[in-house]
Amino acid sequence: MKKKVLFLRPYYGFNIHSDAHGELGMLQVSYDVYPDLTFLTAASVFSESGEYQVRVIDAAVENRMLPDELLKQLENDIYNLVILKTTGQTIHSDLKLLEAVRGLMPEADIKICGLAAKILKKWLTGNAPYISEVIEEPVDEYALRYVKNINNGFIHLPAPDYTLVNYKGYRDRAKGLRLTLTASRGCPMSCLYCPYKLYYEGYRTKSAEAVIGSMEKLMELEPDEIQFRDQYFSADKNLTKELLKGIIDRGIRTRIVCETRMESLDEEILQLMKDAGVGMICFGVESADAGVLSNYNSVKGDLRRVKELIDHAHLAGIETMAFYIVGFPEETWEMAGRTYELAEYLDTTYVHFNEYEHCRFVIGDAEYTPDLFLPFGNVTALDYPSVLNADEREYLAYIFELRYTMRASVQDSYRYRYKLFNEYKNAVGKLRPLATDLYRLSECVRDMRAAGSNDPDHNCCGPVSAV
Ligand code: SF4
Repeated sequence: MKKKVLFLRPYYGFNIHSDAHGELGMLQVSYDVYPDLTFLTAASVFSESGEYQVRVIDAAVENRMLPDELLKQLENDIYNLVILKTTGQTIHSDLKLLEAVRGLMPEADIKICGLAAKILKKWLTGNAPYISEVIEEPVDEYALRYVKNINNGFIHLPAPDYTLVNYKGYRDRAKGLRLTLTASRGCPMSCLYCPYKLYYEGYRTKSAEAVIGSMEKLMELEPDEIQFRDQYFSADKNLTKELLKGIIDRGIRTRIVCETRMESLDEEILQLMKDAGVGMICFGVESADAGVLSNYNSVKGDLRRVKELIDHAHLAGIETMAFYIVGFPEETWEMAGRTYELAEYLDTTYVHFNEYEHCRFVIGDAEYTPDLFLPFGNVTALDYPSVLNADEREYLAYIFELRYTMRASVQDSYRYRYKLFNEYKNAVGKLRPLATDLYRLSECVRDMRAAGSNDPDHNCCGPVSAV
């Protein structure tokens, strides 16, 4: 008889992008619902082998299934192996859930994965007896080792099998179906604020042919967009050109989104990107202050050249999104002001301002407890000296977001940012105290859903950021 394996990504009232931010996760204050690529690829490895009976519960796309409903479902559905993907935002609730799962399945092998689990490994090993193993590596590579005895196997990973989940729930804010894929993992750069460096070892690439094969498989599901989740999409220029030419030659037609370093591009690659269907390029600018960038080992190119390439991309019909970080420990209001001025000068289609996250975790530090993470919040409780206080840093991150949607209309900006942000704040105020009381949390979410049912905007784009 085949062994039964359950892959779990629970939902607690908030929309979490769990393979973002170095797989520490990021709570989305937006309508976007993202798949978790490593989680789904791991399930695909088990499923493809033919030796396991695999079930994947991604509760966000299972009608935002709440933890009490999930536990009810599992009462008569016993598994040999359970793997839960945790995040910094959900670790408190995830641990309670796994404790309850252990009660239902005393014989099961129960494992937890994600960067938050890796950071807390020492604490979990000593304090969470209901967990059999903390998976420290990306869970898809773990799956390959577990199932096929292949170590460090990124290049051998199969295409994610999206049919294992209700993939039609992975929607962007315009309700388009967005699936994700990766051609490489890791990054040859070494920025000290980068959480990916804590989780992905080295920099590895798949062959262009393997990536194109995976894209063709995804295209059978008719996505509106394929987003490459590579940290640095065009780090290997020759491979990038080969991949883009392959997409053009094979007639793969969909909107493609990628994240890279703008300074690695040139007019030739931009033309290939346009011809291959790249609709948006995302890239990090981070700060206007050269001293700050240098403090974090961040090497940026000539900004005039970056501006030229942005303008060139826009002329080719490719949108751009620039990421900035505000609230660096040494940052003053004046320094942040110059970063806003730089954002105006670069004039990308979209901007995204992230609050500085102190990513200097010492992996394996025995002192860390789950309280390192704030339930349903995007920053950790790590204490570090900073010129600006936490409220000022949060304010800085949101003050410029108006620019994100103002190109559409004030009304859209209100609906998309401020309404959602207020909704998120309201939900956090109610649900954070219940993070470890899963039954009361579930009830509270249901009450909030019922109270919002007369709001015409509620659920207008499928699952909302909160509740
Ligand atoms: S370039 Fe980007 S992905 Fe690479 S280390 Fe720096 S922040 Fe991380």
